[in-house]
Amino acid sequence: MKQYDAIVIGAGIAGLGVAGLLQSKGIKTLVLEKSKMVGGRAKTYEIPGGWRVDSGTHCVNLGEHSACAQLLKRLGKEIKWSRPIEGLMVFHEGKWMYVEEYLNLSDKETEELSAIEKRILMSTDEEIEGLDTLSLAQFIKENVNSLKIAEYFEIIGMVQTTLTEPKNISAGEFVYIYRDSIKFGGKGMLKGNVKMPVGGIGVMVGAEAEAVSSMGGIIQLNTPVREIEIIHKGPGAVLTDTEEYKASIVVLAMPLWRLGKVLPVQETNSPLPRPWCERINGLVEETSASMGFTVGTSTPLFTEPVYLSHRKLSSVNLPLQVLGHTLFDETIAPPGHMIAFIGTPCTPEQARNNTFREQTLQAFWETIKVMFPKIKEGLVWKRDGHYIGVDGLSRSPGLTGRHRPQVFLPEIPGLYFAGDCYAGRGIGMNAAARSAMICANKILEDIK
Ligand SMILES: Cc1cc2nc3c(=O)[nH]c(=O)nc-3n(C[C@H](O)[C@H](O)[C@H](O)COP(=O)(O)OP(=O)(O)OC[C@H]3O[C@@H](n4cnc5c(N)ncnc54)[C@H](O)[C@@H]3O)c2cc1C
Repeated sequence: MKQYDAIVIGAGIAGLGVAGLLQSKGIKTLVLEKSKMVGGRAKTYEIPGGWRVDSGTHCVNLGEHSACAQLLKRLGKEIKWSRPIEGLMVFHEGKWMYVEEYLNLSDKETEELSAIEKRILMSTDEEIEGLDTLSLAQFIKENVNSLKIAEYFEIIGMVQTTLTEPKNISAGEFVYIYRDSIKFGGKGMLKGNVKMPVGGIGVMVGAEAEAVSSMGGIIQLNTPVREIEIIHKGPGAVLTDTEEYKASIVVLAMPLWRLGKVLPVQETNSPLPRPWCERINGLVEETSASMGFTVGTSTPLFTEPVYLSHRKLSSVNLPLQVLGHTLFDETIAPPGHMIAFIGTPCTPEQARNNTFREQTLQAFWETIKVMFPKIKEGLVWKRDGHYIGVDGLSRSPGLTGRHRPQVFLPEIPGLYFAGDCYAGRGIGMNAAARSAMICANKILEDIK
C-alpha cells in the first residue's frame, strides 16, 4: 500500500487547486486522475493545422479579478488574459443588434436600471444569501417595473447560469454575479470583464498542474479510482485497478453525480451518514446541460467582440448562442481564421434525447447558414457535441450559497469534497476554484 499525506481524486480545476494549496504547505499530495489529460471539463485540444480548441466556450468571468486568477496567484502562477467581451448582441427581426439598441430604454427605464444596479452593487453577502431561495422570476416581479429590463435580466441570468427558465435560476446567484461584475469595472450588458486565458483554457489548468508538480506533488493520469473504503469513521484505502493507496486526507474533486461510483452512497447499510447520502442521491439529476457545435472557418463569420444570444429559436424553443473565440484570442487558430462556439443551454433530458438533439443541431445549422452566409464556403471543420453537467450543480433556488453540499462531512473526518457542485459561488470555473480554496482552507484548519 502506497502512503501519502493527502490523496486528491480528480485533476480538474478544483482538484489541482486543492492539491497545489496542500502541497505548498508541505503536505505530500497525490492526485489520481482517470483521464489521460488534466483539466476535467476545462481542456484545450490541438487540431492539426494550428488550431487549439477548448472543450467549451470557457470564458472566465472577471478575468484577472476572478476566483480562478486568485487561486493561480495562491499557487504562485500568473497567466495572460485575452481582451474582454465588449457586450451582448441579440437577434431581432432578421439581424444581430446590440442589446442596448434592441432594448431602446427610455430615460425613465435607464434611471430604473441604474437604480437597480446601484442596489445590487450595495447588496451585502447576507442580503444575497437571503435571495438564494428566491427565483430570478420572483426577483424580477418584486424589483423590476420595466418589461424591457425584465427581459434583459432574463437574458443575462441565462448566460450566467446555463439555465433557460428564470423560475429555475437562483436570484442570489444572479445578484452575486451581477454585483461582482459591476464591482470589478464591468459596465453591465456583459461589457468589460469576461475574459479567456490566452492560448486556451488548457493554459490555465496547465499552470495549476505545473504548480502542483514543481512543489513536489504527484499527478498520476490514466488512473481511475474504483473505490474509497470508509472504515472507523474515516477514509480507508483508495483503490484503483492495480494499486491501494492510503492517506489520512482524501479529497473527492469530482462532480457530485460521480460520487456513487466510488462511495457507497446508495447502500442501505452505508457507513456514510444516511441524510447526506439521501441528499446526494436526490441531487444527481440537478444539473445543467448544453448542445451545439464548434466550427473552424477560413474567414471570420463576424467581427464584433461580443457574445451573441438569440432569445429563442421557435422551431426548437431554445436559445442560440454564439461566441467567436478567436475575436478575443487570435493565437488559437491559423492567422485570419476563426473558431466559433455555437450552441444552447438545455435540460439534461433534452441533451439525452438523440432525436431532439439531432433536430436541434440541424435547426441551428440551417439558421447559422442564413445568419452567417460566409460559413458555407469557409468551413474548415465542424464538431458536434453535447454535455450533461456543464457547470456543476444547478444554480437554482435553494441550491446556491449555504444551501450547497459542504466540502466536508463532520461525521467522517478526513473526507473532503471540492468542485463546482459544492460550496463556492460563481460561474462554473470560478465556483470550482472558490470551492478548492474553501476546501484547502478547511483541511489546513482541521490539521492545525
Ligand atoms: C461545454 C462546456 C462549456 C463550459 N463553459 C464554461 C464557461 O464559459 N465558463 C465557466 O466558468 N465554466 C464553463 N464550464 C464549466 C467548467 O468547465 C466547470 O465548471 C469546471 O471545469 C469544473 O471543474 P471541477 O474541477 O469542479 O470538475 P471537473 O473538471 O469535472 O474535474 C473532475 C475530474 O475528476 C476526474 N474523475 C472523475 N471520476 C474519477 C475517478 N473515479 N477517478 C479519477 N478521476 C476521476 C475527471 O476525469 C475530471 O478530470 C463549461 C463546461 C462545459 C462542459
